Amino acid sequence: MDRKGILVVVSGYSGVGKGTLMKALTARYDQYALSISATTRDPRAGEADGREYFFKTEEAFEEMIEQGRLIEYARYCDHYYGTPRDYVEAQLSQGRDVILEIEQQGALKVKAQNPDVLMLFVMPPDAQTLVERLRGRETESEEVIHQRLMQALEESKYVDRYDYMVVNADLDQAVEEVHQLIESQHNMIKRNLDFAKQIQTELKTLV
Ligand code: 5GP
Repeated sequence: MDRKGILVVVSGYSGVGKGTLMKALTARYDQYALSISATTRDPRAGEADGREYFFKTEEAFEEMIEQGRLIEYARYCDHYYGTPRDYVEAQLSQGRDVILEIEQQGALKVKAQNPDVLMLFVMPPDAQTLVERLRGRETESEEVIHQRLMQALEESKYVDRYDYMVVNADLDQAVEEVHQLIESQHNMIKRNLDFAKQIQTELKTLV
């Protein structure tokens, strides 16, 4: 059976643990390709260029926009973030499920271009946990943390644009839930019309 890759958008409030969740998912299952975004924000301690992000200057980023090399991009907390087109298209055509871990404005642009995209939203078990996780990261100032919480409040108004939520309380369980949600997309009848037709043809030869 020919299995086409599924495009998956994963969003969630800053600090909810999307990055850790996606790393765990891709480490456990090799059907997934995690898109690496371009950004103009500075690398955090421990981040490497080409691994967490492609770190760009504003000029280099704007050149990527002009050349149509991004599927989508957005401004988030005073920086650009965008999804490079080449990698996503190549991986999808090879049958891999491609995950875009992106914020909401970009997510909605992807949805407008690809109605079949699976839209997932990662929730914290409660809001206080989110604040604690942001503080626990110890890489951002109180001012940046506050900015990200304000952003979360804004994003909370649009969660109804997503298809499914995954609560990130237990990492292992959340990984399994994301995997099952993506697997169920592969089983949608509309994605398997050729296979259904083939069975029908076989049936005809047997009656
Ligand atoms: P952070 O600075 O914490 O790594 O990311 C900030 C936000 O930008 C997160 O919500 C993350 O999902 C989002 N983001 C990362 N890459 C992209 C991208 O390529 N496009 C968009 N629209 N958002 C992104």
